[in-house]
Amino acid sequence: IFAAVEMAPRDPILGLNESFNADTRTTKVNLGVGVYFDDNGKIPLLGAVRAAEKTRLEAAPPRGYQPIEGTPAYNQGVQKLIFGADSALLADGRVVTAQALGGTGALKIGADYLKQLLPNATVYISDPSWENHRALFEAAGFPVATYPYYDAATRGVDFAAMKACLATLTPGSIVLLHACCHNPTGADLDAAQWAEVIAAIRERNLVAFIDMAYQGFADGITEDKVALDLFAASGLQFFVSSSFSKSFSLYGERVGALSIVTATRDESARVLSQLKRVIRTNYSNPPTHGGAIVASVLASTELRQQWEDELAGMRLRIRAMRTGLVDKLAARGVAQDFSFVVRQRGMFSYTGLSAAQVERLKAEYGIYAVSTGRICLAALNTKNIDYVADAIAAVL
Ligand code: PMP
Repeated sequence: IFAAVEMAPRDPILGLNESFNADTRTTKVNLGVGVYFDDNGKIPLLGAVRAAEKTRLEAAPPRGYQPIEGTPAYNQGVQKLIFGADSALLADGRVVTAQALGGTGALKIGADYLKQLLPNATVYISDPSWENHRALFEAAGFPVATYPYYDAATRGVDFAAMKACLATLTPGSIVLLHACCHNPTGADLDAAQWAEVIAAIRERNLVAFIDMAYQGFADGITEDKVALDLFAASGLQFFVSSSFSKSFSLYGERVGALSIVTATRDESARVLSQLKRVIRTNYSNPPTHGGAIVASVLASTELRQQWEDELAGMRLRIRAMRTGLVDKLAARGVAQDFSFVVRQRGMFSYTGLSAAQVERLKAEYGIYAVSTGRICLAALNTKNIDYVADAIAAVL
């Protein structure tokens, strides 16, 4: 059965990691992958996580199966974080939340469930988007198309084109939106633009699927959920995938959630029953450890404050690297205006570096970036930023 199997293409980003790991240069820098590193180039284990883990290990809990949708403690913690503790949606029982295997797992179970609800829909993702969005929805059986998003000229959002496109979509189409810290461009919508997107979604009877993988990395936990606040107030029904991979630095624990906003408490009960069937046939029920850690941090006033402080530390360090890179490029006589790097939000920047320049960074300097010119600012630190600025200035 395997004789005719062809080699699948390598994942563009994880493939980059493999090449990086094989590189023997000590000065090498990996700006490709979307992971937060601290100033020592290490993935941090947050203090709040460490404290919650210590307590959990000492309690030595049994490792029975979790409920199919995860525990109420975790799911309620997620809901309060993404919708706000005093959300009317929560009080009205209009949100169904299930723990999922990271943000990716949330997108997967959301996509599978949507395929049952809207089997003939087309899914629209931003141009460009996180490359796994297309693959995930295609794997669920949907045709995937794009709506205009990034404007290379302004390095921001071409909102007029995005809006014009949304106004032409067939009713019942699914629109995937990035809540904040757009991956890969770092260009986000503002509140007024979100209000216009919501109006278009209502007008055309579209279904929004909001992906929030970076809550807290732009301006703060509350500030970064502006899109969700506006959607919540709109009365629409929508899907949200969320992830603690970045905000809790728990990448490999696979901790995320799918939340579905329904019209009524009664709808929620029926939707949850169907979502559980999707989960049951995918992986049965989620793992225990990561979700338990997040739930206990969110439930403890002290640990929650510690986590928020640590998250702010990550956010501010990335900002400092953005400013630092722009200043250092200018100091090296680079004529091109890179100030957009400071305006872009979250971990990434679409630098405008060409595929050929990215290739030179790799070949001559051992600096790895995505061929589209996307770099992860969270991989810069006070030790490598001068080297990276030298290299970028040279290839420009
Ligand atoms: N959505 C976006 C936009 C992402 O950038 C990522 C992570 N790179 C994910 C979802 C998936 O997150 P997770 O690692 O939690 O599956």
